[in-house]
Amino acid sequence: MENGQEAEKVIRIAGSITVDELAQALGLSVTALIGELFKNGIVATINQRLDFETAQIMIDELGMKNVRLERKNTASQIANEGRRELSKDAVERPPVVAVMGHVDHGKTTLLDNLLKKKTVATEAGGITQHISAYQLEHEGRKITFLDTPGHEAFAAIRQHGAMLTDIVVIVVAADDGVKPQTIEAIKFAQGANAKIIVAINKIDREGADIERTKAGLAEHGLMPEEWGGDIMMIPVSAKTGEGLDKLIEGILLIADVEELKADVKIPAEGLVIESHMETGKGSVVNLLVTGGELKVGEFVAAGGVYGKIRTMTDFRGKPRGKAGPSTPVTVTGFKELPSFGDRFLEYSDEKSARRAAVIAAQAQANEAASANVTSMDLLRMMNVEDNSKVFNVIVKGDVLGSVTSVVDSLKLIDTKGEVTLNVVATGVGDVTENDVYMAAGDNNTVIYGFNVNVPTNISKLAARDGVTIRNYRVIYELLDDARDSMEKLLGEEVVETEVGTMKVMGVFRVTKQELIAGGEMTSGKLMPGVYARVVRGKEVIGEAVVESVQKEKIDAKELIEKEIGGLAMKTEKKIDLVVGDKLEFFTRETRQRKLGE
Ligand code: GDP
Repeated sequence: MENGQEAEKVIRIAGSITVDELAQALGLSVTALIGELFKNGIVATINQRLDFETAQIMIDELGMKNVRLERKNTASQIANEGRRELSKDAVERPPVVAVMGHVDHGKTTLLDNLLKKKTVATEAGGITQHISAYQLEHEGRKITFLDTPGHEAFAAIRQHGAMLTDIVVIVVAADDGVKPQTIEAIKFAQGANAKIIVAINKIDREGADIERTKAGLAEHGLMPEEWGGDIMMIPVSAKTGEGLDKLIEGILLIADVEELKADVKIPAEGLVIESHMETGKGSVVNLLVTGGELKVGEFVAAGGVYGKIRTMTDFRGKPRGKAGPSTPVTVTGFKELPSFGDRFLEYSDEKSARRAAVIAAQAQANEAASANVTSMDLLRMMNVEDNSKVFNVIVKGDVLGSVTSVVDSLKLIDTKGEVTLNVVATGVGDVTENDVYMAAGDNNTVIYGFNVNVPTNISKLAARDGVTIRNYRVIYELLDDARDSMEKLLGEEVVETEVGTMKVMGVFRVTKQELIAGGEMTSGKLMPGVYARVVRGKEVIGEAVVESVQKEKIDAKELIEKEIGGLAMKTEKKIDLVVGDKLEFFTRETRQRKLGE
């Protein structure tokens, strides 16, 4: 080589690289690299993934000055490319709102009633499929609601780097106050930089306490306007409809202050919020347009797939020719299913759309190799309570609705706070390589599939990496499995069952290892093999194991209530048994602990 210098070697990685791959790229043996990692305090196996920084440190430590590590673009980076500053022609757009809060606090009722109040009823036949976004109108202004029954949907959107939601309505029941999922919702909203408005719900209920609810929210950093803070808190009853207009006005007020705008004279862009296959229609995809105007006949690409918009309907199923910013629409025409959270863009012709899809697919494959998704780590931390065991799951379902139901039902498994369910990730579609990588990065993560497929290569990959995939078609079976798995985390417990008691009437032999005594059974029965607790007054003074039982000086299988007999016990230390002491006999077994006991 020129001047004796070695040529520079460039290793490009997306988010992370396995020990095996890095060793190969560096021309080292895996053992040598593992050894080097170990020296640096990292205990790694061959399939373990190292993040960019760790890989860089290792290269430095190894003194490989000719090796340069570079980041490959990730899919989300690509997705965010082309995000433009608003032009001066930008126009006002409806706010995009998500309703969140603790289970049973009234999110669904609230959304239903808002829509009933403010939208024209659907024609016969109506909505049959699960719709993930709605729009309502109030005094000529529109508001777009995203249906995010589970927070995971929201997290997934956030994960894709899109600050899609402008405003989060946090629903909290006035008769129940702030609960864990309320706090979670607050964190999500803050994490996504969304504006918060609180709907204090169920004010029609006896026991509703608006002031106490406000105090609870204030404790978690949401200070009501009336108390000098900046959060609007609107008392409502989703049931009677009281306060709903005020809530809508509050949302529109926030929208005004935020001056929400979008460009319309640009190629259409937005996000995929739901997708599924339908017989006869092919891919049916719900999109939220965030910029430009999407029209029937246009070419689009989202994630790794592309297509030509064949049909477009609004959330009520009414056909429409075009859709502007903040409008949710359902379209057909994508050649395959784009994923939830994918960003879509309009292209001038089929060729460019296809090319964009190919590039994105490649970037996604690279990103799939990354096991270190920081937003997920964050989520994980947020969800984990101290001192509790954590059950990590990844949930994949055929449609967003099923993913949400599975996640919501999993959350309802009552573990009395002993096991925390941590939803690492969720998604629509088959179990993928990425899911397995994600699960492998973390011990104890189970991938649950619901009505999806697990391709053979994925099962093999999972088996290789020691990842558990459980696929179900019946939700109760899935939940039973999850319950069992959570129970296993609880470990074993020792159960003692009392079988009988005896009053000591004679003590015949007391040594360090042995006790021989006689007495009358005061309850239950006694047999060889059971444990005996020696009780004096209220104090337990020792424990022994019953070796043999005698009745009328002959070995017996058992003594029952009121019978008089003798027994020999083995002890570990000397117990000064005296006449009048009570012996409590019990069995002892270890068994798997059950949830909720
Ligand atoms: P979600 O789990 O947050 O979606 O809660 P739901 O909307 O399913 O509501 C849970 C329960 O509370 C249902 O039985 C509702 O009928 C009831 N509910 C919701 N809002 C109100 C309200 O404002 N007043 C009363 N009395 N009940 C309500």
